[in-house]
Amino acid sequence: MKNLNIKELSSHLKNQIKVNYKLDKNSWFGVGGITSIFFNPNSKEDLKFFLNNFKLKKFICIGSGSNILFKDSGYNGVVIKLGKEFSKIEENNFSIKAGAGVLKNKVADYAQKLGISDFEFLSAIPGTIGGGVYMNAGCFENDFSNIIEEITVIDLRGKEHTLKRKNILFEYRKSGISKNFIILDVLFKKTKTKIPSLIQEKIDLLKKQKKISQPGNIRTGGSTFKNPANKKEKAWELIKKCGCDKLVFGKAKFSSHHCNFIDNSNLASTKDIEKLIKTTQEIVQEKTGIKLELEIDII
Ligand SMILES: Cc1cc2nc3c(=O)[nH]c(=O)nc-3n(C[C@H](O)[C@H](O)[C@H](O)COP(=O)(O)OP(=O)(O)OC[C@H]3O[C@@H](n4cnc5c(N)ncnc54)[C@H](O)[C@@H]3O)c2cc1C
Repeated sequence: MKNLNIKELSSHLKNQIKVNYKLDKNSWFGVGGITSIFFNPNSKEDLKFFLNNFKLKKFICIGSGSNILFKDSGYNGVVIKLGKEFSKIEENNFSIKAGAGVLKNKVADYAQKLGISDFEFLSAIPGTIGGGVYMNAGCFENDFSNIIEEITVIDLRGKEHTLKRKNILFEYRKSGISKNFIILDVLFKKTKTKIPSLIQEKIDLLKKQKKISQPGNIRTGGSTFKNPANKKEKAWELIKKCGCDKLVFGKAKFSSHHCNFIDNSNLASTKDIEKLIKTTQEIVQEKTGIKLELEIDII
């Protein structure tokens, strides 16, 4: 491995590397400090060149930042966000393959046009396929673990690996995929076929249900806490029952529409959002004995 400096890397990977880059626009929360290096590879070759020529000590790969809260103090490492060549979708004999950078709703629409069902729920979750796989995102009793055949990842040395579904330890909102892997693309299972108009009807219905149950057009990271396993009350019910839905720290507060969602329309600092999260966890634990586990990723 060569160990090029950032200037040498930048001259090869034109316009793909930014130094001391502000992260706020890369998170739905709209806040966050500066990362030492932001790398937006156009293609797999560029990503491999970077991995082969730079000693990566600390990094995180992000999708569209709909589940990420960046700290005010920033990130002392490399933030990688996959660029345009990771946004391809293709189909072979009714089996869909999508790049990690493709938005989930694009895959839902693509499948609908081909009359391939079981991808409808993707239309109701923001963000990319890579972020969805990593989080095992889901809704309406479905999640990524049900539709994946295999995924391709790349390690820090630039070597690709194929992970078969049966070897990925999916759990509720967790894939168990190592943070040392970058997800490159996903081959989905061959599922049922249906008349496209029926698939569209289901997509419309799911989107409508989501609109009713969750706030739209606010700065948020979706569900702040996971629903506790084997408990009859959901995270939002526990938050409400314990009176935490009314907590405010600086500009940080929960949404009045859905109290497991933080409403960051007023652009609170991450410090205040973290205070809101920690205090809620403490109060809920004290009053109910249940530990609320974070669903959003604080980086
Ligand atoms: C309004 C709203 C509604 C939401 N509704 C739902 C819902 O119904 N169900 C649900 O499950 N979630 C929901 N979410 C949360 C979020 O949209 C999902 O977790 C989504 O899958 C995250 O995708 P992303 O591209 O934004 O990932 P990011 O937020 O950018 O990243 C999420 C995690 O995935 C990792 N990651 C991202 N890309 C890669 C990659 N290529 N390789 C390796 N790791 C990667 C990141 O490091 C991070 O740990 C909602 C969020 C919002 C804002």
